[in-house]
Amino acid sequence: MQGPTTRAVHAAEGLEVSEHPSATPIHQAATFLFDDLDRFAEVARRKTSGGFLYTRWANPSVAAAAMTVAALEGAKASVCFSSGMAAISTTILALAAGGELVIASQLYGGTHSAMTSVAGRAGIDVRFVDATDPASARAALTDRTRLLYCETMANPAMRIADLDAWSQVARDGGVPFAVDATFTPPVMLRPLEHGVDVVIHSTTKYLGGHSDHVGGVASGSAEIIDRIHRLMIDLGGSMAPFEAFLLARGMQTLDLRMERHSASAMRIATWLSSHPAIDTVRYPGLAGHPDHELARKLLGERFGGMLAVELRGGREAGRAAMERVRVFGRAASLGGTKSLIVHPASVTHTQLDSEGLAAAGLSDGTLRLSVGIEDAEDLLSDLEQALA
Ligand code: PLP
Repeated sequence: MQGPTTRAVHAAEGLEVSEHPSATPIHQAATFLFDDLDRFAEVARRKTSGGFLYTRWANPSVAAAAMTVAALEGAKASVCFSSGMAAISTTILALAAGGELVIASQLYGGTHSAMTSVAGRAGIDVRFVDATDPASARAALTDRTRLLYCETMANPAMRIADLDAWSQVARDGGVPFAVDATFTPPVMLRPLEHGVDVVIHSTTKYLGGHSDHVGGVASGSAEIIDRIHRLMIDLGGSMAPFEAFLLARGMQTLDLRMERHSASAMRIATWLSSHPAIDTVRYPGLAGHPDHELARKLLGERFGGMLAVELRGGREAGRAAMERVRVFGRAASLGGTKSLIVHPASVTHTQLDSEGLAAAGLSDGTLRLSVGIEDAEDLLSDLEQALA
C-alpha cells in the first residue's frame, strides 16, 4: 500500500462526474493532468484554443464565465482578466503598441492615469480627444494610429459616446475601435452591434454585481480576442477560478438587477432635479441631459444606476451629505447591489483645488451615486435626510 501522504495527494484523481452539476464548479486547480503526452503537446501548442493546461492560460470556470459574457455581448469570443485595468491595459498594449492611441479624455481616473503614466513608457503615443465630438477623433488620426478608444458612458462625466459615429471614424481610418462599457452592461447596450471591435468591462461592477469580486473582460471577434488572450498569457493578468464563479453567478441576475438599478436611479434623479440643495443632476435618462436623445437611441429605456449631482453648497455640503447617509454606503467602486456614495473632493480627490477638480470633470460639490437594488423608498428617504 502507498504511504499516507501519497494516498492523500493522489486518491481523488480518478473521480469522474458524469452528471452535469447545476452550477459551473470552481475548478480550483493551477494545472491540469494529462494521461496522453500527444494531447499534452497539442494543448501546449494551441495555447488559447481547446483544452486546459495551466490556469494562467485557461481554466474551465473562467472559460464558462467568458462564454456567458460572449453570449450576452453577441461576441464570437471573450477573455477574462484579474481586473478591469488588466483588461484595459492588456487590450491597449495588444492593439496599440508601437503606434498611436486616440482616446477620449472623459475617462475613469485609473485609465487616465495608465494612459499618462504607463503608455508612453510602453511605446504608445496617446492623443486625447473629446468623447462627445467624434470629429475630434477623426482629426487626431494619423498613419501611426493603431487604436481608437472611449467609454460608452464616461465615468464620472456621465457623457455618452456616439458609438456609430466613432466606429465610422475607426473604419475610415482602418483602425480597431475599443470601448469600456462598464457603465452600460450588455442588457443595456451591445456595442459590437454599433461597429465596435472590442468591448471591455470591469466585471467588478455590474457584471459581477455584488461588490464581492474584482475582474475584467474583453469581447470581440475570435481573431482579435486571440491576440489579446495571448498577450494576457504573457503579461499574466488572468482571472482566478473563484472570481470566475462569482462572475458567472452574478451574471445570472444581470438583467433583473439592471431593471431595478435603472428604475430606482431614474426616480432618484427625477426627485433630485427639483431638490433645492441640488444645482445639477447628471443622469442620461433625464430629458435635460445633454446626451439624452443619443442615450435613448443607444440604450432605449434603461439608463443604468449611475448618476452624479452638483450640490449648491460646495465642498462642505458634499462632505456633510456623505457623512449623514445611512442606507447608502460610503465607498469607492460602483455597480453592486448596495447603494454607494462618493464625494470626490472629500475622499478620492482631496489633493485637488477647484481648478484641478474641474480638469477632472468634477466640482467641489460633486457627489457620485451608485444606486443599488434596495427599495427605492428607503434610498429616497435616506437622501432626503442627508440633504436636509
Ligand atoms: N473602467 C471603469 C469605467 C471603471 O469605473 C473602473 C473602476 O472603477 C475600471 C474600468 C477599472 O476596473 P477595476 O477596478 O476592476 O480594475
